[in-house]
Amino acid sequence: MIFQKAKGIHIEGRKEACKKIPIKDYLSPKYVYMPLLQRATNLKAEVSVGDEVKIGQLVATNEQQMNIRVHASISGKVTAIKKVWHSSGKMVDSIEIENDFKNQLIETIKKEENVDSLTREQLITKMELAGITGLGGAGFPTHIKYKTKAKIDAVIINAIECEPYLTCDFHFITKYPEKLLKGATYFMRAADAQKVVIAYKTYNHQIREALQPFLSKYPHVELHPIKNIYPAGWEKYLVEQVTKKTYNGLPAEAGVIVNNSATAITFCDAVEMNIPLIARPISINGEGINHPSSFYVPIGTKVSELVELCGGYVNNLEPLKYNYIAGGPMTGRAIFIDDLIVNDTLGAVIVKKASEGVYPECLGCGKCADVCPVYLTPTEIKKAFERKDVKLLDDLNANKCVECGLCSYICPSHIEITEAVAKGKDLLRKGAK
Ligand code: SF4
Ligand code: SF4
Repeated sequence: MIFQKAKGIHIEGRKEACKKIPIKDYLSPKYVYMPLLQRATNLKAEVSVGDEVKIGQLVATNEQQMNIRVHASISGKVTAIKKVWHSSGKMVDSIEIENDFKNQLIETIKKEENVDSLTREQLITKMELAGITGLGGAGFPTHIKYKTKAKIDAVIINAIECEPYLTCDFHFITKYPEKLLKGATYFMRAADAQKVVIAYKTYNHQIREALQPFLSKYPHVELHPIKNIYPAGWEKYLVEQVTKKTYNGLPAEAGVIVNNSATAITFCDAVEMNIPLIARPISINGEGINHPSSFYVPIGTKVSELVELCGGYVNNLEPLKYNYIAGGPMTGRAIFIDDLIVNDTLGAVIVKKASEGVYPECLGCGKCADVCPVYLTPTEIKKAFERKDVKLLDDLNANKCVECGLCSYICPSHIEITEAVAKGKDLLRKGAK
């Protein structure tokens, strides 16, 4: 296919309510639940019921698949291995830890004395041992990206957070600007690259203002404002904007590695203090929440506790008038319960008003095709999926869908067309095996 420049549209941000309240730490829940699932990979528990664990202790692994490692996010006792709701929309076996409120750290969490002399290989090993994954939603183990043989010119830090309602990255960067610069610099050294580019949306001028006082110490860092369109944070779009290059498989083909901003801040702690991935920022937002806020919480915290800290739901939520979404409203997953846990990929839970004025059928308006950033015809793909026509799905390039959610967002009939296209892409992948 001839390369066509990706496109995007302006969508309403709805971030202000959450943005104006500083991020809060909520670091001592009574229980956490460390899920035995990361992306689609099942993990093996390394602890048993009755064991005492410390913060940072290895509790679950999968050495065969990308050496996934999960660490206890609080100290206390393992009280059960039980199923809890997860952002995947399923109940997932998880290690329940009851907090002893002693905040006991594993012995390996201590200041790294030789930060400046760490080699590329040592930095990558730190990423791997700390279980660092992409906190922007992908959850891909970060060390795999850095084991590339390709020549990397730059590390791009994705601070765009382009979906409506999401503000946790914004808060995390403005709270820890120098940690972002340090973490990004460690990534640059781990890639043997020459520079770091931090991409952010132009309207988030507070990000630039927070980073500016430190930039003279980091001459290899460039700030790259991106205009306010969706899906500007989509990796391919971002790489194209920054490098003017495109690629088919991985950004390394264009000489770059892309990491989310929260991942870089987490990596700074992993390098300097040997702290594994045990906590993340999350936004609880939407018209259904009394006081939308962002929090920094241990992995495994229950979302329902965060909703309580937000003052609960507006008018106790009139039934059927609100939707819960795990993740952003464009790419997240509809859920029916707030009893899920915060896992590594969950950056938001949104409670938004359900759509009104639903028409029963496709109007044939073509708006979904107009907005598609990769020039697909979502209605045709939906029909091909419904007919299970794998060849037609291939002809229609269903595999190119980036699941950005724009076709559902724009549809006047509120048809869940993204879901149909994603299923078509999945069918094509399975059919093509
Ligand atoms: S979800 Fe897929 S088909 Fe729909 S607009 Fe995005 S890329 Fe296009
Ligand atoms: S935007 Fe909705 S109504 Fe319009 S063509 Fe696409 S699916 Fe049909």
